[in-house]
Amino acid sequence: MEVDLAALTRNARAAQSRAGVPLIPMVKADGYGLGAQPIALALEPLEPSAYGVATISEGQVLREAGISRPVIVFSPLLSDEYTAARELRLTPTLGSAKEIAAWCREGRGWHLSIDTGMSRAGVPWREVGSLREVVAWHKPDGAFTHFHSAELDDGSMAEQEHRFREAVAALPDRPRLLHTDGSAAMVRHGKSEWDAIRPGIFLYGVGSGAGLSLDPEPVIHVRARIAETRWIEPGDSVSYDATWRAESRRRIGTISMGYADGYPRALSNRSSVLARDGRVPVRGLVTMDMIMLDLTDSTCGIGDVVTLIGAGENGEHIGVAELADLAEMSPYELLTGLRGRLSRVYTEVE
Ligand SMILES: *Cc1c(COP(=O)(O)O)cnc(C)c1O
Repeated sequence: MEVDLAALTRNARAAQSRAGVPLIPMVKADGYGLGAQPIALALEPLEPSAYGVATISEGQVLREAGISRPVIVFSPLLSDEYTAARELRLTPTLGSAKEIAAWCREGRGWHLSIDTGMSRAGVPWREVGSLREVVAWHKPDGAFTHFHSAELDDGSMAEQEHRFREAVAALPDRPRLLHTDGSAAMVRHGKSEWDAIRPGIFLYGVGSGAGLSLDPEPVIHVRARIAETRWIEPGDSVSYDATWRAESRRRIGTISMGYADGYPRALSNRSSVLARDGRVPVRGLVTMDMIMLDLTDSTCGIGDVVTLIGAGENGEHIGVAELADLAEMSPYELLTGLRGRLSRVYTEVE
């Protein structure tokens, strides 16, 4: 997997200038599978307000890279994790009087998590008034909410925003850093109403699905080399369960990548990859470690590179969203699955 850090940076600058406020880049899940450390280091020149992670160990990875900005942990922590969070100077997101009191006994710096419709984490917007006293005493650095359907034009985002404004108005003071927008909301809103935005997937080159004008540049390119080729005869089958059979003499090539590298098994007999002379189809079931391609109409042979995701040599492109669609999975799931054994190479294509 090639990760184009220059494209990443251009996407981040595009998001920032559209919103008109600083970023809180979401680098959780190891930067959506692209590598949290190199991603965060590449984004440092943009002077983000903070970085967003899901867990303490993800925060630790950023500290080990020398990141000294605030790191906000967006998933709820248990109280026995507070000590580790303090030691790493992480910023928790809290949503109950009990949590706030427990954290503020020794810790400093936290954001109020307001649930306006996800029913996932944080204080329900209707109940924010009940925190007035504890929040007046222990002031949060920020407050935020998260939209459940920002990519849809169904009115739900406006409703959640209304709830958020009401909740913020119920606080004794306005917290310094208010933020609501992930990638899709950023694309839909344009200028932000608040103090920072929290894009994730847009930075990594995947459109929000909002169907609007601002599209990010692709950031990742997943490639493999053909390791074997063979001719098979009519009636011969390919891969487990013999789900594909040749109707004529075919030249089959094998690449050493499979679903253990995150190429979805659901793409078996469905997807194609980019060879230098055009698309070649995947034949048979994707296996754990190998994928078979029909190279009959291609001049590619052993050692030649094919592109499974990203830009091919001949100007063609396979997007993450397009491939996820074909696999009937979310682009987030596809992207975060490309990890483990897949080696990452960081480039800066100008
Ligand atoms: C993951 C996440 C985001 C980023 O969402 P994208 O759709 O990837 O931009 C923003 N905010 C919170 C709370 C998240 O968990």
